[in-house]
Amino acid sequence: MKVFKFGGASIKDAEAVKNVGEIITGYPDQKILIVISAVGKSTNKLEEITQLYIDSNSELASKIATLKKEHINIVESLSNDHKTDETKIIFEQLKVDIEKIFGYLEKLFSNEANQDYDIIYDQVVPVGELLSTKIVSAYLNSINLLNSWTDARKLILTDSSFRNAEVDWQLTEMSIQNLEWEENLIVTQGFIGGTKGNFMTTLGREGSDYSAAIFSNLLNAESLTIWKDVDGVLNADPKFFNNTIKLDNISYKEAIELAYFGASVIHPKTIKPVQNKNIPLWVKSFINANEPGTLINDNTDKDDEITKYIFKSDQVLMSFSPKDFSFIKEKNISEIFDALAGQKLEVSTIQNSAINFSISVDYDKNKIEKLLQTLQEKYTIKYNQGLELLTIRHFDDEILAKLINGRQVFLEQKSRNTVRVLMY
Ligand code: ASP
Ligand code: MG
Repeated sequence: MKVFKFGGASIKDAEAVKNVGEIITGYPDQKILIVISAVGKSTNKLEEITQLYIDSNSELASKIATLKKEHINIVESLSNDHKTDETKIIFEQLKVDIEKIFGYLEKLFSNEANQDYDIIYDQVVPVGELLSTKIVSAYLNSINLLNSWTDARKLILTDSSFRNAEVDWQLTEMSIQNLEWEENLIVTQGFIGGTKGNFMTTLGREGSDYSAAIFSNLLNAESLTIWKDVDGVLNADPKFFNNTIKLDNISYKEAIELAYFGASVIHPKTIKPVQNKNIPLWVKSFINANEPGTLINDNTDKDDEITKYIFKSDQVLMSFSPKDFSFIKEKNISEIFDALAGQKLEVSTIQNSAINFSISVDYDKNKIEKLLQTLQEKYTIKYNQGLELLTIRHFDDEILAKLINGRQVFLEQKSRNTVRVLMY
């Protein structure tokens, strides 16, 4: 069996959903588990809705109504094409399902928001994936791509670290092994999971790729394909570079480096679960579905053929020096990392000297404020915001010089294959 993952852009409107149908039609009689994220930018809208609810803001109702309208419009437009008795029933049922999901939200919002933000977030935001999968599943059934809609909250079991839940691999493996294939196709949600106590959880923004990788691993899939609006993994972000090159084949190792340091094409957590079982990962275009895309596997031969550039913006550099003028010792480093782990801040670069320890992390106002509070008693902390982290894999000195020309460099690290520069 194969696993396919379709992101928000690939189902952003009725035309896009039909295109997904065409892609699936190209794989007749195959067992495919289809993982889908929320329609277009629905997740952002649901985040906004969560905040309006918490703030008891009067705009809440109208924002929900808009979101509902957007989904209903897609359904209307899909159902207009096919008006047999059978498809009418499918789309009528779909409308009932959508009403139910919004009914759930209304009920939730009729109570006062008296829980922790992260818990509330996870009881609201997954609605995006529930809606999108209902729509895609119904549409595929309406064009005779028979599938069963499956609830990922019952399959991906997690702990209760809301908004960034940790997968319980043992429980998840058990539930996925019991998955029944009533049809060749299964449609399920990315990004979301559930706790044993039936709370919804999410795996972190853009986490659908990760969900698809978990399913691939536990189902021993023959391959995972992530369908994107680009031709594959490129050697740089086309937003910043003109002449990008599509990579035909890179290794898991190379892909992890690219994803971790900011290449947004795949979520960094996606690679390990497929690498562990040596499952080929394809990144392909849903627009040019017949093009080969990029193959990510264990072949490292081509990794150094093409120079790759990755920019990560909104970095914060923090330098810690002990207030008692002592040297930076192992104990200090462990204290600093404890505080970082406590806030779930991920470090992108590290540098130390005798009296200074510096790290850079993604900007997150709340977490950084809490971190500073924890550490400021013992450390003098210097802090620079709004920096950019440039990573070049298989670099060339000339290109590097050009890219940092005129910029203020705060930190530079070079290894044989990689150079990383933190700059303003
Ligand atoms: N819908 C979720 C998000 O936008 C998950 C995903 O797209 O992967 O973050
Ligand atoms: Mg999304």
